Amino acid sequence: MKLLPLPALTDNYIWMLHDGQRALVVDPGEAYPVKRALEEAGLQLQAILITHHHHDHIDGVPELIAETGAVAYGPGRENIPEPFEPLVGGDSIQVLGIRFQVLDVPGHTAGHIAYFAEPTDQVPLLFCGDTLFSAGCGRLFEGTPAQMLASLDQLAALPANTRVCCTHEYTLSNLRFARAVEPDNPDLLQHTRHCEALRASKLPTLPSSMQLELAINPFLRSRQDSVVRSVQSFDASATGETQVFAALREWKNQFR
Ligand code: ZN
Ligand code: FE
Repeated sequence: MKLLPLPALTDNYIWMLHDGQRALVVDPGEAYPVKRALEEAGLQLQAILITHHHHDHIDGVPELIAETGAVAYGPGRENIPEPFEPLVGGDSIQVLGIRFQVLDVPGHTAGHIAYFAEPTDQVPLLFCGDTLFSAGCGRLFEGTPAQMLASLDQLAALPANTRVCCTHEYTLSNLRFARAVEPDNPDLLQHTRHCEALRASKLPTLPSSMQLELAINPFLRSRQDSVVRSVQSFDASATGETQVFAALREWKNQFR
């Protein structure tokens, strides 16, 4: 199986997984990059996995369904144009011979879902949409801080070697904020240098891994003393894990 991030729109990635013949894609915000990749490698599109209803994740879906006959799967609790197979947390689907578990991860949107797989003989795989980014997390457009914290806790509990496939290339700006939160975290400096080199060569900084995110992502580290202290210097009234998480997210919203 090959895993590829197809750059799309301004800073999106459409993840493609294929076995040399059949492919799936995740969150196609536009159809063209997918059509080109299918053509170049002579692949048949079998399935489209959708994580949430935002346009930069679904606008390519109708054209891809019309031209390839692929089946679309998406969050049953969100308003997405038909046709698609509605899913909720606890469901699982079989695509390309791989079983994907569906996780409810509300926060960025109210019905956001993620797809997790542990394919035989392969490293586990997570398609998390706009919930978890490398060194960051999605904005809380529809959900509460408590929901997002619970969603991130759920993802953080996945195997450490899980490949984390996020849908935006936000890593360098997220790392700049992460360094403001944890200036003394040596993993942050090291990973920043690594990502700067990748971006200088126009290469993606993704997929990440859960192990790496646990070391560098302030939103997965919001209970660490260093993060709590730092957040309280932004908002002294933040006490308790949900309030600290909420203040951390607010700090990021204001960070320039
Ligand atoms: Zn979104
Ligand atoms: Fe997005």
